[in-house]
Amino acid sequence: MEIDDEILTEFYDNRYAIQGMLIYRKSALIVVREMQKILEENLEKAGHEPVLFPVLIPEDILKKESEHIKGFETEVFWVTEAGKNKLDKKLALRPTSETPVYTMFSLWIRSHKDLPMKVHQSCAVYRYETKQTRPLIRGREFLWNEGHSAFKNPEDAENNVAEIRKIYSDLLNMLCIPYRIHRRPEWDKFPGASYTLAYDTIIDGKILQIATIHNLSKKFSEAFDINYEDEEGKHKFVHLTCYGPSFGRLLASLLNIHKDDAGLKFPTNFAPTQIVVVPILTKGDKEEVLNYCRKIKEKLDKFRIVLDESDKTPGDKFYYWEKRGAMLRIEAGPRDIKNNVVVVVRRDTKKKEIIKSDELNSEKILEIFKDIDKNLIETAVKKFNARLFNANSVDEVKNLAGKGIITIGLCEKEECRNEIENYVSVLGVEEKGKKCIMCGKEGRITYVGKTY
Ligand SMILES: [Zn+2]
Repeated sequence: MEIDDEILTEFYDNRYAIQGMLIYRKSALIVVREMQKILEENLEKAGHEPVLFPVLIPEDILKKESEHIKGFETEVFWVTEAGKNKLDKKLALRPTSETPVYTMFSLWIRSHKDLPMKVHQSCAVYRYETKQTRPLIRGREFLWNEGHSAFKNPEDAENNVAEIRKIYSDLLNMLCIPYRIHRRPEWDKFPGASYTLAYDTIIDGKILQIATIHNLSKKFSEAFDINYEDEEGKHKFVHLTCYGPSFGRLLASLLNIHKDDAGLKFPTNFAPTQIVVVPILTKGDKEEVLNYCRKIKEKLDKFRIVLDESDKTPGDKFYYWEKRGAMLRIEAGPRDIKNNVVVVVRRDTKKKEIIKSDELNSEKILEIFKDIDKNLIETAVKKFNARLFNANSVDEVKNLAGKGIITIGLCEKEECRNEIENYVSVLGVEEKGKKCIMCGKEGRITYVGKTY
């Protein structure tokens, strides 16, 4: 089911004068801020310091690591003039912040006592996408959080990768977004990294990369001369890791993975409106019912709760809020007031429950929310698992392309890979263990699919 345009415009507007740049609106920002808060708290608990770097990067700094710039050079926006002057040095709008951050790391890191050094920032980055842009999924400006860390040795860097995996996985679990972590093949890793891990989810059969973690080893620290003096007074290069989830893509996943025929659904913590109170009004009792409902709203004001006092019929209000993913509806009319109860309806199952007014409190709501979230993740995982396939021939791959993640065997010969890549992208490779579906020779377990 497609999401109504009318509802999408409450999240973003992509009619801005620059293609691929959109305006985030209230509902989107509620979700994004919530994700950002959780992520930043967990990164800071794990020892990251918040930073905010300038958006501009001088050309010579961006070009310092040769593989890195090769990977980004077709996508960089350049500032070449300021006022009436042509700039001596071109300035790039950051496509990502490894180069500026590592310029400063080389000043900040002196001794082994300065390590580990971990920083993170939530910001916008800019890439001149030449592929067709798509709101939240492929834009020329996108919101993310990026983390950058420096370590004494490869073991510490590996431990950091494991720690970040846990932080990202926890966030995705809270968002009820199913995912797989793929080790990207050599030809698709981050420019300058020794390896890249990517979090992939599935939307309508196509694969969406929502976060990545890169182990950069010493490549950047050598290019940027980030070294430290160890306990014996020897100078050594640091080991670097960097990582980031895209808030836009996480939002796109939320909007698309949980929706049903009635409209949007959200994990309760992220719903722009968590609870809606709908008064069931009859002529004579209007004020009494409204007052009763206002009290409910007051009692539950730690949630994002709306009392719909509009003139619409109750049925129209139900429909309106279901579409927007208000995860709990509380109804109250004259009869409920007399019985001192409210009717509570879950957005996910539409199940009704009658609750005594004095038992309606935050704890009760959180209990229902927990159950809704459990149902949401179970439903999403079921759908996700139904999109995991195996294929033993190119024809099977062709038939399954665009339906999900396909496991195949693939050898390292370029001709086998090129043939497969006519139909799908390689998402991840593992160790040997499966015969190549192209040539029959020994190959590696390989995950493929059509990507956004
Ligand atoms: Zn082969």
